[in-house]
Amino acid sequence: MRLFDRVFCGSDEMLAKAEESLSAIIAECGEDAPMILPETAYNMACSLAYAGKKISNLRELREALDIIKGMMGKEYNTTNIFRTGVATAMAAEVIEACKYVKTSTPYEGTVYHGHFTDAEVRELGVPLVTGDIPGFVVIIDEAPSDEEAMQLIKGYQSRGIFVFLIGGIIEQAVRSGFQFTGGLDDFKVRVVATGEDIWSVGHIISLVVRAAMIFGAVQPGDWDGYMDYTFNRIRAFVNAFAPLDDITVACGGGAIALGFPVITNDESEDSHMWRVPKSLLIQPNTQDFIETSLEARDIKLKITNIDIPVAYSSAFEGEIIRKKDTHVDIDGSRLDCFELVQTKELTEVEDHAIILEGPDIDEFEPGSKMNLAVIVEVAGKNIQTDFEPVFERKFHNFINCAEGIMHTGQRDMIRIRVSNTAFAAGFRARHIGEILYAKVKSEYGSVVDKCQVRIFTTPEKCKEERAFANTVFDKRDARLATLTDESVDVFYTCILCQAFSPSHVCIVTPERLGLCGAVSWLDAKATNELDPTGPCQIVTKERLIDERVGRYEDVNEAVQQYSHGALEQVTLYSILEDPMTSCGCFECICGIEPFSNGFVIVNREHVGMTPLGMTFSEMASMTGGGVQTPGYMGHGKHFIASKKFLKAEGGMGRVVWLPKALKEQLRTKLDATAKELYGIDNFTDMIADETITEDPEQLLEFLTSVGHPVLEMEPLL
Ligand code: SF4
Ligand code: ZN
Repeated sequence: MRLFDRVFCGSDEMLAKAEESLSAIIAECGEDAPMILPETAYNMACSLAYAGKKISNLRELREALDIIKGMMGKEYNTTNIFRTGVATAMAAEVIEACKYVKTSTPYEGTVYHGHFTDAEVRELGVPLVTGDIPGFVVIIDEAPSDEEAMQLIKGYQSRGIFVFLIGGIIEQAVRSGFQFTGGLDDFKVRVVATGEDIWSVGHIISLVVRAAMIFGAVQPGDWDGYMDYTFNRIRAFVNAFAPLDDITVACGGGAIALGFPVITNDESEDSHMWRVPKSLLIQPNTQDFIETSLEARDIKLKITNIDIPVAYSSAFEGEIIRKKDTHVDIDGSRLDCFELVQTKELTEVEDHAIILEGPDIDEFEPGSKMNLAVIVEVAGKNIQTDFEPVFERKFHNFINCAEGIMHTGQRDMIRIRVSNTAFAAGFRARHIGEILYAKVKSEYGSVVDKCQVRIFTTPEKCKEERAFANTVFDKRDARLATLTDESVDVFYTCILCQAFSPSHVCIVTPERLGLCGAVSWLDAKATNELDPTGPCQIVTKERLIDERVGRYEDVNEAVQQYSHGALEQVTLYSILEDPMTSCGCFECICGIEPFSNGFVIVNREHVGMTPLGMTFSEMASMTGGGVQTPGYMGHGKHFIASKKFLKAEGGMGRVVWLPKALKEQLRTKLDATAKELYGIDNFTDMIADETITEDPEQLLEFLTSVGHPVLEMEPLL
């Protein structure tokens, strides 16, 4: 059968299944039953995006299905095939959505992930722009053997490619020992068992179009806008195992329409009639799927060769090592442990020397705690001591990417767990040195000419060296404290996120870090010096217009230039007057709370409600895509405790509500800043949280009862 006919058959099949699912759930729950997918502000994103149809109940879902049906044509031309393919994915979303009518967790207790939350979509922002996630693969159906299934999954995982699995390959992975939780943990290690049936592609296309809405500000119904975004900015592709059935072929048509090539090993008689150059490729040898796929989607990988006995990929960054799987626990909370970068003279450093002093990991009993201190010594003509903390802060990410190694914390509060599996594979202390050496040289090679790593493991030596490290940390903190927006001569842009938010620009200052939380002023400075034509450019601050809101002519010129004219002006310290824009990967979102004249802040990890009657996802959807929205602003966690936060509106004394966990995380700094700004003690206790109330009236009562400073401030509007 010709490809077109197979797409038509497959789309009919998907539609029939959608009609059946919808009729069944309507018969059971009635047309007025709400149709709400959990934790998203873009409900039924496929229908919303491609048809501009807002859905909140089953009646509207039925109307959407009528639109979808109307999109499925039978004409033999590519425009129609593509539209029909996309409609097939939309119908798939309907089938899956029906499962969420009676429960918000239909996949609970299974290995399947199902619907993705907005927070998960947003989490992809930074790793995508930095290339930590070079692309996405959707693998459909059963591989010829379990071994081939695992080879393919592992092959992608070790290259950092995000893997979505659908259908039989999931069983194969489970049989081969892959452990899925069905939740966020899978998302973090970037191998997700999306669903059992082909209609779970609806969830993946939903994620893709939400990325376009969140990061690209593409508006509902803007068909061409989505096509353009997915084609140019989402590096996704499909691997589908033979034999392909019609419904998979129809979904493949949708994928190709979005710009995602499909690679299959289906060599059936008629498959030669389906080839579409660069889009539908037949690769009989599944061993070559990865290479063919990366080439088809034009994905280039940045590879660092690291001499360690375990796999190394950003996909392992989110891996959790439990106590029972731990061979040694390097526990900085109990023992003297730390990591430190030190700048040295060129003559003092022997490049690639890894010096271990003390017993190695294999000299400890399984399950024991171990001291470990790591000093990375770097030398280079253009190196500055200001780069030390910049390099050091990346160690967390560098070490975590090794499979079977978990790293948390920084400075002298680190914790490293080496799993039994990694130990059995031969992982030893010097491999930590190998990782740090390789990564420091590859990421910072333009300034680091030589690098050596010294590792200590005896309690006495670790204690002695830790005391020294603490003097270094103290000096650095003192230097950081003197770094204010007033004390420096320049700010920096960051435009990394333009890969997804083409008109977004962050202005990074000492007191205002990038909204993703990952780029401080020192980071931006280092980035600029490492790569002078890169994402962080110098912004002078010579022409101040208004000190109160932080308005500079130089800054305005920079945002005009780097947003390519999309943005005229921003202020550095106001949320109401020309606030800075957001891309989509912000750590927190701050929004105006009219009853108290204050602001509510919620971080991405918080899933509950806020006194604004909106969740994180809903508040987050008020801004993004490089657009200014006075009253709403995405920002980094650590900006909250800054003296410049909401400065134009009266400072952080405007903050009336924060999730409890975030409050505790920031307590010391919040209290210190409030003391300095308002002379108030224990300000953190005056801020409400979810354990106090999520209701605006009760919030006001609470603020009154504690004498919150916002009550004395001018009305905001
Ligand atoms: Fe993106 Fe801004 Fe973070 Fe740069 S600082 S990575 S532009 S969010
Ligand atoms: Zn971003």
